[in-house]
Amino acid sequence: MTQSPQSLADALNTAAGPLTPQGRVKALREAVPGRIVFTTSLGLEDQVLTWMIAGAGLAIDIVTLDTGRMFPETYALWQETETRCGVAIAPFYPPADAVEKLVAAQGINGFYNSVEARKACCHARKVIPLARALQDAAGWITGLRADQSDHRGALSFVEFDASRGLIKLNPIFDWTREQALACATAENIPLNPLHEKGFLSIGCAPCTRAVLPGENERAGRWWWENEAQKECGLHVGADGKLARAGVAAGESAAARESAAP
Ligand code: SF4
Repeated sequence: MTQSPQSLADALNTAAGPLTPQGRVKALREAVPGRIVFTTSLGLEDQVLTWMIAGAGLAIDIVTLDTGRMFPETYALWQETETRCGVAIAPFYPPADAVEKLVAAQGINGFYNSVEARKACCHARKVIPLARALQDAAGWITGLRADQSDHRGALSFVEFDASRGLIKLNPIFDWTREQALACATAENIPLNPLHEKGFLSIGCAPCTRAVLPGENERAGRWWWENEAQKECGLHVGADGKLARAGVAAGESAAARESAAP
C-alpha cells in the first residue's frame, strides 16, 4: 500500500530528530520523489542551508522571491553566493500587472498606511510568486527556526501542507541563531553585511529596520505594526490556514505566524 503524504511526513518528522540538518535534507530528498524547492531570502539561516544543499550535491531547486524592494546588499549577496557556492538561485518575480494595480491603488509606499495595505503588498510581491515557485513541488525546505518568535515555537521538523499538497521541511528549526552563526563562521559562508548592523532578520528594505538591544530578532520587521498583526502569508497554506502540525482545523491565519523570509 502506498504511504500517504501525511504518514510520510509523520515518519520523517520522527526520523529527523537525531539527524543533522544536512541529514534531514538528505532524508527528505531520499524519501520524497519529485521536485523539492528551497526558498531562500539570503538571510543567515538560508545561507547555511544553501551551503549544506550545495555541499551534498542534492537535486533541490534553490529559489528566491525577488519582491523588487530588497536591499542592495541582498542583491550583492545573491550574486556572491552563486559565484562562491556554484549554485544558481532561480528568481520568482511578482506579476507586473499585480504590482502596477497595487501601486496605482495605494502608492509606491502604501504599505505603511494600514495592515490591509501591507498585506496586499506582501500578497502581490511574495505570496503570488511563492505559489508559482511551489506549483509543481512535492517538497519545500525553509530556514525557519522555532525560537525566532513565539508564533514559530510550534513548528515541527516536517509537516504535511495539505493545502499545497507538499511536504515541508524546516531542517534547522531546533537551532539557535548562535548555532547558525557559528556554522556560517566555521564554513566561511558569505553573509549579508546588514546583519552586523543590527538587521538580524532581513526582508524588504522599506519594511526592515535594525533591532534595538534586548528586542526580539524579528522586531525589525514591519516594526510599525503590533506583533499579532505580523503575517505575510508565506507560511500560511494556500487555503489561508497555517500549514503546520497541531493547528486545529478552521483556525484562521491571522491568529499567528509572524511571516517569514
Ligand atoms: S515586506 Fe513590505 S515591501 Fe515587501 S512585500 Fe511586504 S509590504 Fe511589500
